[in-house]
Amino acid sequence: MGCDTGVKQKRFFIETWGCQMNEEDSEKLSGMLESMGYAKTDIKKEADIIIFNTCCVRENAELKVYGNLGALKNLKKSNPGITIAVCGCMMQQRGIAENIKKRYPFVNLIFGTNNIHRFPELINNAMQSENTIMEVEDDEGEIVEGVPIDRKSKIKALVTIMYGCNNFCTYCVVPYVRGRERSRKSKDILDEVKKLGQDGYKEITLLGQNVNSYGKGLDEDINFAKLLYMLNDVDGIQRIRFMTSHPKDLSDELIDAVKNCNKVCKHIHLPLQSGSTRILKKMNRNYTKEEYLSLADKMKSKIPGLAITTDIIVGFPGETEEDFEETMDVVQRVGFDSAFTFLFSPRDKTPAADMPDQIDDDTKHKRFNRLVDLLNTIGLQKNLKYVGRVVEVLAEGISKNDESKFMGRTDTGKLVNFKAGLDVTGKIVKLRIDEAQTWSLNGELVD
Ligand code: SF4
Repeated sequence: MGCDTGVKQKRFFIETWGCQMNEEDSEKLSGMLESMGYAKTDIKKEADIIIFNTCCVRENAELKVYGNLGALKNLKKSNPGITIAVCGCMMQQRGIAENIKKRYPFVNLIFGTNNIHRFPELINNAMQSENTIMEVEDDEGEIVEGVPIDRKSKIKALVTIMYGCNNFCTYCVVPYVRGRERSRKSKDILDEVKKLGQDGYKEITLLGQNVNSYGKGLDEDINFAKLLYMLNDVDGIQRIRFMTSHPKDLSDELIDAVKNCNKVCKHIHLPLQSGSTRILKKMNRNYTKEEYLSLADKMKSKIPGLAITTDIIVGFPGETEEDFEETMDVVQRVGFDSAFTFLFSPRDKTPAADMPDQIDDDTKHKRFNRLVDLLNTIGLQKNLKYVGRVVEVLAEGISKNDESKFMGRTDTGKLVNFKAGLDVTGKIVKLRIDEAQTWSLNGELVD
């Protein structure tokens, strides 16, 4: 037990919007702050440092950041000693950092995604300055290894294997804000995963905007399939997941790796975006409806029991009723286990924002609802097939919806709630599935 020195430990609060890569960046910010002697708090008004890690992929997330910043004005007035920092993808968009500096002059620090590793120095400078410190670098620069990280979970870890994207899908801002593709050296990834295994982590999720192009540009004989074989041998780690895979780059070698590596989960997240070849072309996705369908068929036939999940955008400019029906057709034929569905939202400086024939909100919402209904029906059918089966589940902790139960996931990514007499967190348990709902399963422990 530590002694009470009477000095109150300083605290920090981080709010994160957006994808898992942002979550991992926030874990790094937490890790750096903890090494600086700060402790994490979930209560904003108790914090000495407040950080907003922003996302610019969807308009909604951006609006929330502005709303939250506005709400900090009074807090800063009543407690001028707090330090407020804003970072993340939104700051990489031209004009936004300057705008925040002007509209919210009480913000102490604004920085981008490419200089997270310099955070301790930046926050110290900000604390000593009367003015807002702003450092947003366009140049993606080198990958910095060894940044301290405070992971949210002690069981599952996010591991970024590459940064940026070269694909320029016409609706997406990522290539503009996260820069071109850069891969981490395989040895650095392997060392990190070995350490995670030694520290008791059971599952890793490898992250990249397009993991299928991992290794390009590196000075070593490596690609994503080879990386999976390498990581499959790491002691302690029992499950390996990855996202996201661009269909145009998914090789036979990778399908074989998913099949052959016993720790690689039999689940692939393969964004479809649209089922219409005409719309896919306008999106610059570089595959056709038929190519997507035959890829999905090939994977299903090579990897028995494979779960496929996807992302779909509804209401892309020019999407006709026939185009939308093509999307519904692919959803039926592939039989996705689940999907992230999005209403098209025009993002500044992307080509799609200026395309003619933008779809009106009413049509978008109606199509969206039809799609979600279909996905829910298929999701439930898929889940019902689990009833009566015995599955292995990695127990992650207490269920959010029912505190008398634990929750975990199958290797196909299905959420299962179950009762257990002992704390089984972090263990792989065998469960017999006795009930299926659209989004989750219920199970019972078997010996
Ligand atoms: S692959 Fe397309 S959607 Fe994905 S990050 Fe790159 S540009 Fe964006």
